[in-house]
Amino acid sequence: TFITFEGPDGAGKTSVLQALIPKLKAQSQVSLHLTREPGGAKISEKIRDVILDPANTEMDARTEALLYAASRRQHLVEVIKPALAQGDIVICDRFVDSSVAYQGGGRRIGTQAVLQMNQFATAGLEPDLTIYLDVPVQVGLDRIAAHQHERQYDRLDQESLAFHERVHSAYMKLVENNPKRIVTVDATQPLASVVTAAQAVIKQRFSS
Ligand code: C5P
Ligand code: MG
Repeated sequence: TFITFEGPDGAGKTSVLQALIPKLKAQSQVSLHLTREPGGAKISEKIRDVILDPANTEMDARTEALLYAASRRQHLVEVIKPALAQGDIVICDRFVDSSVAYQGGGRRIGTQAVLQMNQFATAGLEPDLTIYLDVPVQVGLDRIAAHQHERQYDRLDQESLAFHERVHSAYMKLVENNPKRIVTVDATQPLASVVTAAQAVIKQRFSS
């Protein structure tokens, strides 16, 4: 079973997953593997560093999209596929939807081009379930500003409000076009409520 978590910056994916994983582990008979992208494997983490380095201001949008796809490919081959083949539950912090939102929407490459590129990278592997943590753009950005001291500064932190608005609307379109796969959880709620809601979605989807 392959589950992904998505959301704009400041939605709280990392905090939610940190709290959720022990709860899911306590309930689950099969082993549960938490991973993240960009990253999750040695080469993929190196590519992540290149993508997110604030010094790489000259990076072309398509170069960025290709690097995300390359990072994803290596992570998928080395980590995700073997775990799924073993029967594990894999929970991944971000996947192709992030590229559709950030590179397709944010960088304006377009959904179709990003999906095509990622079809090559993933050979069609799709999540069984995606939990989309939704927050209004400004709420997310305010959260990031409030937690600045404990976050790593990355290249995305230089982006405009308009960029983040495009990311958010691309996510909204994904939600609309994938009603079976993607479930939205209101991430403006307190952390504990978001965790409970996400847990309920997973339980409901896989208990039958
Ligand atoms: O999720 P996480 O905070 O680790 O992501 C790191 C950075 O990469 C964030 O600023 C996120 O917005 C950005 N990102 C991106 N395109 C992706 C995935 C993440 O711009 N496909
Ligand atoms: Mg971030």
